[in-house]
Amino acid sequence: MTDPLRLALGGALPTISDGERTSGRRRHPLRTAAKTQPDPPTMPTRSARRGASQARLQRENAHDEIYEKIYTAILEHRLHPGTKLVEERLAEIFDVSRARIREVLARLAHEQIVDLIPQRGAYVAKPSIEQARDVFEARRVIEPAVLRRLVATLTPEKLTRLRLHQELEVDARRRDDKRAVIRLSGEFHSLAADLAGNSALARSMRELSVLTCLMIFLYDAPTATSCRADEHSQIIDAIAKRDAPRAEKLMLEHLEHIESSMKLVGDTEEVDLAAIFKD
Ligand SMILES: [Zn+2]
Repeated sequence: MTDPLRLALGGALPTISDGERTSGRRRHPLRTAAKTQPDPPTMPTRSARRGASQARLQRENAHDEIYEKIYTAILEHRLHPGTKLVEERLAEIFDVSRARIREVLARLAHEQIVDLIPQRGAYVAKPSIEQARDVFEARRVIEPAVLRRLVATLTPEKLTRLRLHQELEVDARRRDDKRAVIRLSGEFHSLAADLAGNSALARSMRELSVLTCLMIFLYDAPTATSCRADEHSQIIDAIAKRDAPRAEKLMLEHLEHIESSMKLVGDTEEVDLAAIFKD
C-alpha cells in the first residue's frame, strides 16, 4: 500500500504492521496465533499438506487485501454510507471471482459495515440515529474498561505505539489530510483496545469504531472531524502516568464531545417550520 505517511516515517506504521495488514486478522492476535499452528497430523502427506495450506494462504491473502481496501475506503469516507457495492464491478476491479467478492462482503456484513439486502445486493451500512445512540452507549461501557486494562498492563512498548500513532494524527492534521485524520482518529481507539490485550474487547472496538466513522459522515457537522485535536494526547498522558481514573474520565468526556458534535435528533421530531422561515 502506497501510504505517503508510512513512507515519511520510514515504513513505520504503529497501528498495523505489513504482516498484520495482509493477514487481515490484526485485531485478533489470538486467532492469528492459532492460524500459524501446523495442521493436525491427520492430513495425508507433508507436501500435500504444505501445498494445501499455501493455496489457502494465497486465497486468504487476496481475500484480506480486498477486504482491507474496501474497509479503508469506508473508513476514509471515499465510499459513502448507502453506496451500492456491485459484486460484478468489484470482481472486475480486483480481478477475482464474484464468489471471492461475496466472501468479502459477507465478512463486512458480519462486522455490520455492509448491509446485505436480499434480492438487492450489498450496500455500505447507513446506521440509523437509534443505532448511532446505541454505538455511543456501547463505547461508554467498553472504552473505560479498555483503558483500565491498558493502564494495568502498560509497558514502555505499548506507550511508544500510542505516541507514534499520535504523531501520525498530528502530522495528518498539519497536512489537513481529512481522510487520514478520520481514519487515524478511529484507529487510535482500536489501537488502545488492541494494546489492552483483550481480543473480544478489541474486536468490538474495531466494529464500533468503523460504525462511528460512518455515523460521522451521516450526522456530523460539516466542519467536524470526529475526535478533537488534543484529546487523544491528554488521554495518552494520563495512561503514561498510570492514572486510570483520569484516563477513563477524559475518555468519557471525549466520547461526549464526539456524540454532541453529531446531529442525532430523532426521526420523529417535529420540524419547527416557523423557526426555519423566521426572517
Ligand atoms: Zn478519539
